[in-house]
Amino acid sequence: MNTKSRRLTGQVAIVTGASSGIGAGVAKAMAAEGAVVVVNYSSSAGKAEKILNEIKQAGGEGIIFKADVSKEKEVIDMFQTTIKEYGTVDIVVNNAGLQKDAKFHEMTLEEWNHVIDINLTGQFLCSREAIKEFLKRGIVPERSKSAGKIICMSSVHEVIPWAGHANYSASKGGVMMLMKSIAQEYAPLKIRINSIGPGAIRTPINYAAWQTPEAYNQLLKLIPAKRIGEPEDIGGAAVWLASDESEYVNGITLFVDGGMLLYPGFEDNG
Ligand code: NAD
Repeated sequence: MNTKSRRLTGQVAIVTGASSGIGAGVAKAMAAEGAVVVVNYSSSAGKAEKILNEIKQAGGEGIIFKADVSKEKEVIDMFQTTIKEYGTVDIVVNNAGLQKDAKFHEMTLEEWNHVIDINLTGQFLCSREAIKEFLKRGIVPERSKSAGKIICMSSVHEVIPWAGHANYSASKGGVMMLMKSIAQEYAPLKIRINSIGPGAIRTPINYAAWQTPEAYNQLLKLIPAKRIGEPEDIGGAAVWLASDESEYVNGITLFVDGGMLLYPGFEDNG
């Protein structure tokens, strides 16, 4: 492989929730561009090992690391271990997330807190540890023009309301303002923070939406591009946001959604 053309050569990336779905796609895409990848997982070591093996078989490098992103001590341990192992962290992808759906009037405080703790507080904890390290290290010009990059996995539901999923959409709306606020705070120090807003991507989180032809056809009504997204679609966007190609990009959400935000209900309504 021509290492010169690889966009993340020599950089260290932590990808949270990387043992499945979008996180696994992002971890593989970053490793293919030369990054050493920490494949974070919270429960299934076997799945994380499988992703790391795929990375290694493709010529990449990395480790797996168990940490619940909503637990401060575990997040700090993950960063300390990564820094001990590889010297620093250049890229953090705040990907871990889940849904606990309920009608709003039936939603328990536990369901609310569980989603906010992982989807929003998890991104706070990982971003804070990342920024501490970026500030300590500063820019290493051979690796990147930025002192560090954070990519927050948001959703089209940072802007599209979602009945029956108030905890999830509130968490993603929160991610949007967390991302923008810290992007503004640290842009002068050459730390870049951006989000990706996936539409419908084929992963375990939304299995019910694509598993049967009926469900899939229903889903396509929401997608002008007329296909579900794949984790690789997000992997490509994440590599670009982590690379120097996007060096002048600060505080955006890059929607990767096949046009889901284009009011598809108006498609044949002219
Ligand atoms: P997924 O269920 O395959 O992946 C989520 C990952 O997060 C899993 O590996 C899970 O183990 C991990 N995780 C859950 N709780 C964790 C914790 N406390 N600590 C560490 N890891 C934890 O689903 P996915 O679709 O790949 O989701 C990834 C991200 O993309 C999520 O933030 C989700 O909200 C977002 N997203 C997905 C879609 C989609 O259509 N699939 C759309 C918009 C946004």
